[in-house]
Formats: sequence, structure tokens, C-alpha cells
Amino acid sequence: MNDNNAGSTGGADLELLVVGSANADLVVGVERRPAAGETVLGSDLAVHPGGKGGNQAVAAARLGARTALLARVGDDAHGTLLLEAQRAAGVDTAGVLVGGAPTGVALITVDPSGDNSIVVSPGANARLTPQDIRAAGGLLAAARVVSSQLEIPLETVAEVVRGLRPGARFVLNPSPPAPLPAEVLAACDPLVVNEHEARVILGDDAGDAPEEWARGLLALGPRSVVITLGAAGALTADSSDVVRVPSPKVDAVDTTGAGDAFTAALGWRLGLGEELPAAAAYAARVGAAAVTRKGAQDSYPTASELPTAAP
Ligand code: ADP
Repeated sequence: MNDNNAGSTGGADLELLVVGSANADLVVGVERRPAAGETVLGSDLAVHPGGKGGNQAVAAARLGARTALLARVGDDAHGTLLLEAQRAAGVDTAGVLVGGAPTGVALITVDPSGDNSIVVSPGANARLTPQDIRAAGGLLAAARVVSSQLEIPLETVAEVVRGLRPGARFVLNPSPPAPLPAEVLAACDPLVVNEHEARVILGDDAGDAPEEWARGLLALGPRSVVITLGAAGALTADSSDVVRVPSPKVDAVDTTGAGDAFTAALGWRLGLGEELPAAAAYAARVGAAAVTRKGAQDSYPTASELPTAAP
């Protein structure tokens, strides 16, 4: 193992610390996705930096946020590629640990209709441990806002919650959805879910309207909830208010990673002191911009590229 991390930002005030996954997305276009036992020929391989943690960090940094990533990659070529992508976007990567397992990869085949099959090998992401979080205390102490997802172990996310500096805000996108301990839920401000995640978490009792989902999710214990609704924008909810936030109208080309860009922007703006609906309105502009271009990290806008807010 070749850990290079002391988790140091020299005490600087971090506007967003993302603790999460970094994956190399290996994409091959195919005429037809293979059945069991079948071999098909595909296009040239394309390798894209991905993973929800990596996506969020790049999205925030590109908007101008002082952002750091706490993650683990392998001591291999994919890890180098992911670190370079983070640094190119302006992310502080001092907290990215190297080694312990191969870099996480997503093996993606896409057919001409756009349907895909994906196998994820979590690799180093699964080796980001609670001990790693404790060792990165300097990063956590510097962060106004900390954002996580569930592509790293849940026990690691729980340790993040325990290590938050007083007054720091915790944002969680529970993806892929999994049952959450009360300790983690209680820290979420907000819990950010898309429609699919809301339905999985709430199960059969979900109801049909996003307002019902928001009430159901709030009852689980988070301080606030944001539900993203694709082209329809988002809904924010806390104990006093439920607010619909429209998204700007755009020509969508590829929605990959829109939710990650939305969540990163939301967390950053909340840390700057914006109220939840205003932060969500900004995040909706970021999500809308992200769907106008292909890819995940490749599609993320700078602040000057954002569409104007929906009326
Ligand atoms: P996820 O990527 O997690 O499924 P969504 O599809 O809900 O999340 O997208 C996240 C945000 O991106 C939305 O809340 C919205 O602001 C924006 N967005 C997504 N799709 C579109 C679209 N077709 N037009 C405009 N904005 C969109």
C-alpha cells in the first residue's frame, strides 16, 4: 500500500469536501449486448473518469468552489488518470489515497438504442475505511460542507458523520440506495435523492407525488430533503416548507452524471449561506447545463456557462 495522504489543506477553509468513489468508466459501443456465453465485437474502448465522488468534486471545482476529494484509487494507470482529471478541474487531491486494490472500474456496454449493461468493480473504493477517515481529520476539520454517496462502505460514511466539524453541513446522496443508520440520516441536511432512489427507500408506501415522498423521507430523520425530478427540476423540503424548484428548459443530450453535478452545486451553495430553495435553483441550472453535453465529468459547466434560472 502506498498511502500518500496526510489529509492536509493547511487549515484552509474548504467550501466542499467530497468523500466518495472514483471510478474509471470503460465504455464499448456494441451492436447488441452479449447474452450468456456469447462474445460480440465492439467499438474502440473509451475511458472516462467517473464515480459519484469524483463527479461531484469535479462539478464543484469547475464552478469555482474550493473543493477537495477524499477517496481511494489503485496504484495503477486508471488511478493516475482519475487523479489527473481531478487536478485539471482544480480539485485538491491531497486526500486521495493510493493503493490497496485496483482502481474501481465500471465496465459499460452501450447498444445503438442507448441501452447499456454495466458491471462495477468497486476495487479501491471498497477499501476506503473508517480508519482512513480518522486519519484525514485535517480535511474534515477544514470543510464547511461534506458530501458523500454510497459507493464507499456505509461504515466509512458513518465515520465521516462523526468527524464533521461543529456547524459543518452534511449532504448525502444515498446511491446506490441502502438502508441507512439513524445516526447518518439525522446528519443529512439535505438527503438528496432522485425519483428512483426515493421509491427504493420508501418502498411500497411511497405514494405517487414527490410531495408525499418528501414527507415520507423527512419522517426517516434527515433535517431536510431534496428530490431531483429530471427535466421537471427538484423539490426541497424541511420541517417548515416544501418548495418546487423548476429547471431551465434545455435540449437534453445525455443525462449521465446530472444528479452528481446537481448535488455538488447544491452543497456548495448551501455552504455559502443560501437557503435550500435558492441553492436548489442554482443546482438545477448546473444539472440542466450538464445534460446538454455528452458524458459525466466532461459535461460539467463553469459558472459562466450556466443557463439562466427558470422563471
Ligand atoms: P439523476 O441524474 O440522479 O437521475 P436527475 O435526472 O433528476 O438526477 O437530474 C438532476 C438535475 O439535473 C435535475 O434536478 C434537473 O435540475 C437537471 N436535469 C436533469 N435532466 C434535465 C433535463 N432534461 N432538462 C433540464 N434539466 C435537467
